[in-house]
Amino acid sequence: MTAQFAIVGSGPGGMYAADALLKQLPDCRIDVYERFPAPFGLIRYGVAPDHFKTRNTARQFIRTLELDNVTYFGNVEVGRDVTLDELERHYDAVIIAVGAYNDRTLGIPGEELPGVYGACAFVGWYNGHPDHRHLDPLLDGEGVAVIGIGNVALDVCRVLAKTPAEMSGSDLCAHAAEAIQAGAYKNLYMFGRRGPLEAGFTPKELGEIKDLERCQVIVDQAQLPGDVPDDFDGRVRGIKEKNLQILHELALQNKPDLPIKMNVRFYSAPKEIIGTDRVEAIRVERTKVEDGFAVGTGEIEEIPVGAVVTAIGYRTEVPGDLALDRGRVANQGGRVRPGIYVVGWAKRGPSGTIPTNGPDSRDVAEAVIADLQPSDKPGGKGIWPLLGERNSRIVTWDEWERIAEQEIARAPAGRPRERFTSVDEMLSVLDNVPRKASNQ
Ligand code: NAP
Repeated sequence: MTAQFAIVGSGPGGMYAADALLKQLPDCRIDVYERFPAPFGLIRYGVAPDHFKTRNTARQFIRTLELDNVTYFGNVEVGRDVTLDELERHYDAVIIAVGAYNDRTLGIPGEELPGVYGACAFVGWYNGHPDHRHLDPLLDGEGVAVIGIGNVALDVCRVLAKTPAEMSGSDLCAHAAEAIQAGAYKNLYMFGRRGPLEAGFTPKELGEIKDLERCQVIVDQAQLPGDVPDDFDGRVRGIKEKNLQILHELALQNKPDLPIKMNVRFYSAPKEIIGTDRVEAIRVERTKVEDGFAVGTGEIEEIPVGAVVTAIGYRTEVPGDLALDRGRVANQGGRVRPGIYVVGWAKRGPSGTIPTNGPDSRDVAEAVIADLQPSDKPGGKGIWPLLGERNSRIVTWDEWERIAEQEIARAPAGRPRERFTSVDEMLSVLDNVPRKASNQ
C-alpha cells in the first residue's frame, strides 16, 4: 500500500516535512494544500523583500513540488473547499502547516484607531499578500512607531528606511515602493519594553541597519550595558555579545544630515495610542527589568507619530476543531491526535528562522512514519472529484508556474518580478489556457 499524506500549507514547515517524508518513504504520495494559488506562505508573504538569500530557500521546495508523487492543490482552502474531516478520512496522515498568520494585539487604548497595523498586515502589504494589498497605510505623519524589538520590527524599519537604490533587485511590490517613497515620516521608532539584552533581534539583521543611505540610527549609549552578564552562556551568549557590540557602534553614529532617524528605544512600553480620527501620537512608559519582566516606572512620554506598527508576535488560526494552546495547535511533539500532526509555527509558536523548521519538521515526519498503519485510503484521488463537484478552482503546479512566469515577464527593469496581488489577477493569467490532467 502506498502511504498517502496531506500537508495543509506550503510554507517552510510543511515543505520541510514533505522533504523529510520523501527521504524516508520515497514512494509515498504527498498532496500539498495551499489556500492561495501562490505557494510558500511565509517565504513569499513574510520574508523581507530585500532578504534574497532567505527567499531562495524556495528553490529546494520547487524541486519537491515538481516530483511525480507530489501534487500541489493551489487555491484550495481547508475549511472552505474541503474539510479537515474529509482529509482525515482520505489520508493516512494529515500534517497541519498553516503557520501563525494572525496579529496579536497590544490591548491598550487607541489600538482601534486608523493608522495602527499589525506586522502581518503591514508586511503582507509590502509583500503583496492578497488579504493586505489594499492596506494603504498612513505614512503621511512625521513619525512611525514600531512596537517590538525582534527581527520583524527590524524588517519593517529597514524597509521603511531604505532608498529605491538600496531596494533595487528586491521584489518589493510596486504599490508599496511608491507609498514608501512618498512617505512624509522623518522619524522611525522601535520601542522595546525590555532592554538590549532581552531583545529578540539577531546580529546579522541588526548589522543591516548600520549603513543605510538615508537613515541615521540613534541608540542611547546610557541604555547599553558594558558587558553581557554571566547568566547568559553558549550560543545565546554569543548572540547577545554581538548584538551589544553592534548597538555600541550604532550609539556612536553621527550622521545628522541624513533625513530619516531610526530611534531604537529600550525600556519603553506602549501605554496608549492617541488620536481623534486617526493616530496622532503614542504614549510610552519608561520601564525597568525586574526578574526578567518589564515593570512600569510611571514616567510617561508622548511622541508624535502618524502610524503604529505592532511587531509583537503572531498567533495561529486552525481549520476544523483542533484545540489551541497559547496561540498554537495543542500537540505533543507534533502529534495532535491519531492521523493529525502539526509542524512549523502552528506547532511551536512564532519563533525561529526558516531553517529552524528543517530539524523540527524532520522530527514530526519521523513520528508520522512511526505511527503509520497499513490502510487503503485513497488520498487525493478521492479529494480531486470532490473539489470538482464543488467547482473549486484548483491551481495545479504547472498552472502556478505559468502565473510565476508572468510575474517575471511583467517585472520592471531591475526587479526580479512584479507580483500579482489578488487571486483574481493570478487566475486571469490562466484564462484560455487548457488545463493539464492532474497526476492523481
Ligand atoms: P520576537 O523576536 O519574539 O519579537 C517580538 C517583540 O515584541 C519582542 O521585543 C517582545 O518583547 C515584543 N512584545 C510582545 N508583546 C508585547 C507587548 N504587549 N508590548 C510591547 N512589546 C511586546 O518575534 P518577531 O520579531 O515577531 O519574530 C518572530 C520570529 O521570526 C523570530 O524568531 C524571529 O527571529 C524570526 N524572524 C527572523 C528573521 C530573519 O532571520 N531575518 C526576520 C523576521 C523574523 P518581550 O521580549 O519583552 O516579550
